[in-house]
Amino acid sequence: MAVMAHEDDEVMIAGYLAKIAQDEHKRIAIVYVTNGDAGGNAVGNEAGAALGQLRQMEARRALASLGIENVWFLNQHDTPNQNVLYSLDHWDHAHVLGELVRLVRITRPDVVLTWLPDPVAGENHADHQASGVAAVEAFDEAGDETRFPEQLSPPKDRRGMANLAEGLLPWQPQKLYFFTDAFEVFTAYWYDTGKLSPYRKNLGDGTGPSYDMKPISPARHISYAQIEADEQAYYMTQEGQLGVDAMKSKNFEHFDYPVKLIFGKSLVSGSVTGDVFEGVKAGAVAFKRVRGYEPPQENGLKFEIGDPWRFYSLFWQAHDLHQMAGLIPVPEIAADYGERLIIALRACNYSGNDAIFVMGATLPAGWSDNTEYKRYPVRSGECYPVAADVTSRSSGNEGWQELTWTANVGERKVGSVEMHAYVGKVGGLPR
Ligand SMILES: [Zn+2]
Repeated sequence: MAVMAHEDDEVMIAGYLAKIAQDEHKRIAIVYVTNGDAGGNAVGNEAGAALGQLRQMEARRALASLGIENVWFLNQHDTPNQNVLYSLDHWDHAHVLGELVRLVRITRPDVVLTWLPDPVAGENHADHQASGVAAVEAFDEAGDETRFPEQLSPPKDRRGMANLAEGLLPWQPQKLYFFTDAFEVFTAYWYDTGKLSPYRKNLGDGTGPSYDMKPISPARHISYAQIEADEQAYYMTQEGQLGVDAMKSKNFEHFDYPVKLIFGKSLVSGSVTGDVFEGVKAGAVAFKRVRGYEPPQENGLKFEIGDPWRFYSLFWQAHDLHQMAGLIPVPEIAADYGERLIIALRACNYSGNDAIFVMGATLPAGWSDNTEYKRYPVRSGECYPVAADVTSRSSGNEGWQELTWTANVGERKVGSVEMHAYVGKVGGLPR
């Protein structure tokens, strides 16, 4: 099962989907959580709900070209932004989760593949992240008989009518993988020194299996890259013209990059970089309870990053996604030249006395700090959400820069928050 946010999200892994569907005869279910109704339309005036319908028509035809027939649309509103919690709030999160759990129980997937639940410097659409969050939740809940139990209870009279309850069986998927649109080409350079970044590698290197798209598909007799271009061409309201142009010129260089997947977790044997289906067992596996939420043990005074980063650190722990915290060790964000960014921080007072936090920012040359207040009185036992408000430099080369915020109480430094910002012509969604 692949859980996507928008109709056309699968194009970047379409060569891999064709390989497993048409060469390896795997059965594939695709779920789109939104109908893409806030997207642009490259070929007509249709927008909003009408565009949502067109995009679903495009998706059915595109997936049919890959040999995929099982497709579901959960029809949530497309929510262009970069904060996963804004998407989950604008969607009906509970409805989406219930539907995904139901579809896992109906289609009984061995493997779930979805967007990386992590903020990246990249397109970083919050709907992408939110589809990943909901898919992780469904992976962990579909085998739990106490979650959405109405789906599991047998109908009172199977041969009769007007039956309530759904008669499904619980199902535990075995392996979970992610994909991402993090901009790998600009993960490496520091603006101030021109040096390669030591702080993190490209997200797809060594974190999961990689599939070459240049070989010829035995079933289709064309390269996987060409299959991907052909699939892209079904999405004319979106970037279909790229596919049309590639097919016309027979130049597939925009499509022949390898499909790199990121290992999420596995309940069976197998290695991180091994094939997606390595170790997969035929039939059902036992339900695996995840750690779940455990409140962090806190004391004293604390100054930390806020949502969505803080949410993710709790989410990954709760769902046993152990390698996620190390994937992007320092929170990152992309910024256009002269773009205003508002970064959520938290001043927390777990001490027995009220305290006054005084916040300071260390910004690179050319950046400005528009944060309205520096002093934050925080009562004992409370956390105050601080909004750091900065504007990135308006010129210079593209590259990574470091931002740091610190908080003092009296003479004592109580904490600091570091963030890496990639400044360049990134465009796209509000940050
Ligand atoms: Zn998308």
